[in-house]
Amino acid sequence: MEQTTSVREVSRVVTAHKQREGGGFIVRRPFPSYGLSAVDPFLLIDEMGPVDYAPGEAVGAPDHPHRGFETVTYVLEGEMEHEDSAGHSGALGPGDVQWMTAGGGIIHSEEPSRALREHGGRVHGFQIWINLPARLKLTTPRYQEIPASRIPTAATPDGRARVRVVAGQALGTRAVIETHTPIVYQDWTVDDGGDVTQAVPRGHQALVYVFEGAVRVGEAGGGRRVDDGQMAVLEPGDLVRLRGEPGGGRLLLLAGVPLNEPVARYGPFVMNTEAELVQAFADYQSGRMGEITRTATLR
Ligand code: MN
Repeated sequence: MEQTTSVREVSRVVTAHKQREGGGFIVRRPFPSYGLSAVDPFLLIDEMGPVDYAPGEAVGAPDHPHRGFETVTYVLEGEMEHEDSAGHSGALGPGDVQWMTAGGGIIHSEEPSRALREHGGRVHGFQIWINLPARLKLTTPRYQEIPASRIPTAATPDGRARVRVVAGQALGTRAVIETHTPIVYQDWTVDDGGDVTQAVPRGHQALVYVFEGAVRVGEAGGGRRVDDGQMAVLEPGDLVRLRGEPGGGRLLLLAGVPLNEPVARYGPFVMNTEAELVQAFADYQSGRMGEITRTATLR
């Protein structure tokens, strides 16, 4: 049988809007928006910063719950601290990844580190929400915290395209993070003249979010230019082609198998039905998602 592969073209480009979140920090958010509620299985992309905080200015997201999905935090600059109702606490620095499966329910806080709050400094990073299928929405909460040193990296032979492989595989390198459903999460830097073609399985829905410079995505007409702050949703295919524009570009390549299930979401809960949302609020308000026992070290 003849095997044919195709490069994914860009089906639409959306520009991220700015939104105030948590305790008042500004994010760039390509979705959800009025025109695009999700890119199944991805529910949300928030780019935090880059922002330079003065002393006393940095804010985060104080105690709040989640149920029914996963939050993935990827720090590029600055340091975040977190605590949760399952007794976890820790800090994330540049290049570190926290892959949190909220599952049946967790309450956590996500704040800039004490040093950042007191002395100010730069914060830049991502939080991405990934939906869980109905059968896993109430799974036991799970954390994977991977320091930058354990995030595999790879580069094309000419060195002009480089990748940090948070999830999935790229250039023969496989991520260390385990995902409940197949997910690709990669941080690519593509210099001027860089040209890389990356396999993304046909059953995945794929997108590219550019957060520095510009890249060309796809094959037709030399590819579609995607600029800083823009996201390209890709058509079906087997391969993603990325080419650097003058000055280069940096992007997240995200892909995953669509769940194709009904989504009922409100605030920090993402379920399949309205009744499950009501139950989530009831469980949260009655304390069934626990509470954070404050540790002395982080406060
Ligand atoms: Mn959260």
